[in-house]
Amino acid sequence: MKCPFCNLEMMEGYLKAGRYVQFQEMLDGKKGQEYLVAKSFMGDAKMNGFLCPSCRKIMVDIDLVEERPQR
Ligand SMILES: [Zn+2]
Repeated sequence: MKCPFCNLEMMEGYLKAGRYVQFQEMLDGKKGQEYLVAKSFMGDAKMNGFLCPSCRKIMVDIDLVEERPQR
């Protein structure tokens, strides 16, 4: 996959973390919604995706672990 920012080939793999990965929304410096993006009952949570070492960006697929945040 080509990086959408610099168009170089990205590394394919997975991002691993602890058992839970959450995204914390920030609204004007205050905490907004919290979204559980990955979880694992055994070992590390894994998210498949791509990394661009040049732009230092990662794009990962997130499973729908819980209800989608309301907008
Ligand atoms: Zn890039």
